[in-house]
Amino acid sequence: MSNPDPSRQNQLETLKQIILDHRLPRADFALFAVACPYCGKADRIRKLEPPGDLDGEIPPEAAGTYGDLWRSLASLETSLGICGFCRNILRLHPQGGRAEGVYE
Ligand SMILES: [Zn+2]
Repeated sequence: MSNPDPSRQNQLETLKQIILDHRLPRADFALFAVACPYCGKADRIRKLEPPGDLDGEIPPEAAGTYGDLWRSLASLETSLGICGFCRNILRLHPQGGRAEGVYE
């Protein structure tokens, strides 16, 4: 996590702005017992909706950017979430209830 790449930093800032502007995630529940790698809180992480789930929910331009950022930051096996306490974007593993920073 040392020396984060500036383009990734920009991607995260853009994604955070979309999240803030459109009050994402829409599903308002926290993942149980997944600890945030930044602040250590175990009950604050909320899963972000995959881009396809937001069709018609947010403006098309924001949805397009969100989709591009999602595909760049997540992977086939992982999805994205945000910590409600420290506001860091996280990568979530479907099995094992694990979250990690998107720089890892
Ligand atoms: Zn946190």
